[in-house]
Amino acid sequence: MTENQTPPRIHVLAKPVGAICNLACAYCFFLDKELLYPGSSFRMTDEILDTYIRQLIEAHRTKEVTVAWQGGEPTLMGVDFYRRAIELQNEHRRPGMTFENTMQTNGTLLDDEWCQFLKENNFLIGISIDGPRELHDAYRVDKGGKPTFDEVMRGLRLLQKHGVEYNILVTLNRINADHPLEVYRFLRDDAGTDWMQFIPVVERINEDGRTLYQEGATVSERSVTPEQFGRFLSATFDEWVRNDVGEMFVQTFEATLRNWMRLPSSGMCVFEPTCGLGLALEHNGDLYSCDHFVEPQYLLGNIQETHIMELVASDQQRAFGQGKLDALPRACRQCDFLFACHGECPKNRFLTTSEGEHGLNYLCEGWKAFFHHVDRPMQMMASLMRKGRPATEVMRILAQGDARLEAALASAGRNDPCPCGSGLKFKHCHGKRGGDGKQRAEAKTSTALDSA
Ligand code: SF4
Ligand code: SF4
Repeated sequence: MTENQTPPRIHVLAKPVGAICNLACAYCFFLDKELLYPGSSFRMTDEILDTYIRQLIEAHRTKEVTVAWQGGEPTLMGVDFYRRAIELQNEHRRPGMTFENTMQTNGTLLDDEWCQFLKENNFLIGISIDGPRELHDAYRVDKGGKPTFDEVMRGLRLLQKHGVEYNILVTLNRINADHPLEVYRFLRDDAGTDWMQFIPVVERINEDGRTLYQEGATVSERSVTPEQFGRFLSATFDEWVRNDVGEMFVQTFEATLRNWMRLPSSGMCVFEPTCGLGLALEHNGDLYSCDHFVEPQYLLGNIQETHIMELVASDQQRAFGQGKLDALPRACRQCDFLFACHGECPKNRFLTTSEGEHGLNYLCEGWKAFFHHVDRPMQMMASLMRKGRPATEVMRILAQGDARLEAALASAGRNDPCPCGSGLKFKHCHGKRGGDGKQRAEAKTSTALDSA
């Protein structure tokens, strides 16, 4: 294998405790993965940790290396495991190399000792919160079915007290996806974060009722519906684009803007044309094609037998990565939003198109609705940035358009054409008693952009 057959850097999600977790979130797709390793202790040994860190460093031709820890719940491993991981990074590093350790946690086991360690070693923490108490507790419960909101918020406050860098991960499910503004405003105003990501829950149920394999087209009643997903993203976008551009970082919006600017990468793997550079490492050294494909047929090998670079460059992994592009149905290939979506994640491609072709994404309808909804503000922000002006100017332009529209609505006669440009008479549109708020918000955006 030559150097130029391997990518300059890879991203591996390491799972030192495998699928083991102290909670039992109802929608967690990973808990059933425990069944893949019957009788295992589910603890990464020092030998595997050493092999992993050494090989990960060898697999990088860049100076920056991201070391990502996940689970199950990675804090179950105890803080000393990560102290040792830092030691090994220092031991094996090449001159000038820098490390960013990241960890995705439910936050419930964090204490002062943990947070001191995380701060001292510049960890970036992703903490999972699904919204305010009732929305969070709907599915995020412990093994006894008890709510976890208070424990998670305690963990978040500790991270904040110690100045640990963090972001909040929200899983969008059938319940919280109906409350976009409640979720967004809670995270911004009460939790106090300025960085969040939304991950849709799409949980496929196998014939035996488990979620172990990506099989069939039946989703659980906990899964977000495509329509809910589109509405959630659109409503949070409207709040963001009017108030928070440049202040709040919402991963999907940032990535979408990068796509509208036609930058080489969006920064989100689901929007890339191919896969293959984001792998998952189990506690015993088994390497899988992706965190969402920890299944026997996507097992690439074990890093104690074959070097991680060789596994990443293997025909199997290349075929997995290229498969995302090759398997695109015609509906995607002809879609106006292909440049931004690329058919999204292959794990969600289990619908049949109207032409009878398999492989349409379950979330397609939601993504399309969102992309349509944000097209014009995205075009505007992209254009501002291309001219060297800050994207934040979009907020002023929208506010001016809103004010103009409000004034026009206030002076419109009942039988006049509605100033929003809908083509309807005012009395049948914004002049209607108890007018449609959604229509009004959409009209605001459209009018503001038309007049910009
Ligand atoms: S399979 Fe999905 S999650 Fe995995 S790398 Fe591809 S797009 Fe990302
Ligand atoms: S929006 Fe739908 S049709 Fe278009 S690329 Fe995405 S999944 Fe395919």
